Amino acid sequence: MTKVPLPPAAGTAEHPCLALANSTVTLPGGQRVDELNNPENATAWLIMHELAPVDTGLLAYCQLQLTDLRKDIRKVLESHTQGEVPNAGSLGGINRALTAVPNAALLQYDTDKGLLRVPSHPTTQLVNHAMAQIAEDAAAVLTGPDAHRIARCASTPCDRFMVRTHARRQWCSERCGARQRANRAYARKQDKSPAA
Ligand SMILES: [Zn+2]
Repeated sequence: MTKVPLPPAAGTAEHPCLALANSTVTLPGGQRVDELNNPENATAWLIMHELAPVDTGLLAYCQLQLTDLRKDIRKVLESHTQGEVPNAGSLGGINRALTAVPNAALLQYDTDKGLLRVPSHPTTQLVNHAMAQIAEDAAAVLTGPDAHRIARCASTPCDRFMVRTHARRQWCSERCGARQRANRAYARKQDKSPAA
C-alpha cells in the first residue's frame, strides 16, 4: 500500500473530502506520491478510511472513479481558497457523485424476520456509495461554518489542503511548518551575506 510519508494534514481525520484531496501530494524533493496509484491501493484506501467494508474485494474500476472525483474536489478546494469562481465541470463531478446512488432503504421480505428495510448497497455500488459520502462531506464543509478555515498548505511544494486549527495556521503539518521556517531563515541569511 502506498502511503503519503507525512503526518495527516489538520482536519483530514474529520473530513473524507480532505483525505481524498490529500491522497496525492508533492513531497519536498519534488516527487509526487499517490495513494490511489492502482486499483488495489484505491481499494485499500477506501477500507482504511472506513468508506468500504473490510472484506471489499478488488474493485478494478474504482481507481479511475476516485481519482476523477479527487481532481474535481481539488479544483473546487483550490478555487475556494483563492476566492475564485469554481470550475463548473468540477462542481458537476461532485454533484454526480452526490446523486449517483439511491439513499432510500429498500423494503424486503425475510422468511424469519418478515418485512424489513435494508440499505440498498449492492457490492457493485460500493464505490459509488463511498464517493457519495465524500462528495456529501465536500458539499457540507464548503458551505458550513468551517468553510473560511479551509486553506492550502503554504509550504511549497506541498499542495495539501487543511482546516486551519487557528486563524494564523499556514501549514498542513508540523513538518511543513519546520521546513518553511528553515527556508525563511536560510533566505534571510542569504540576504544578509555580502554580495559576491
Ligand atoms: Zn504541507
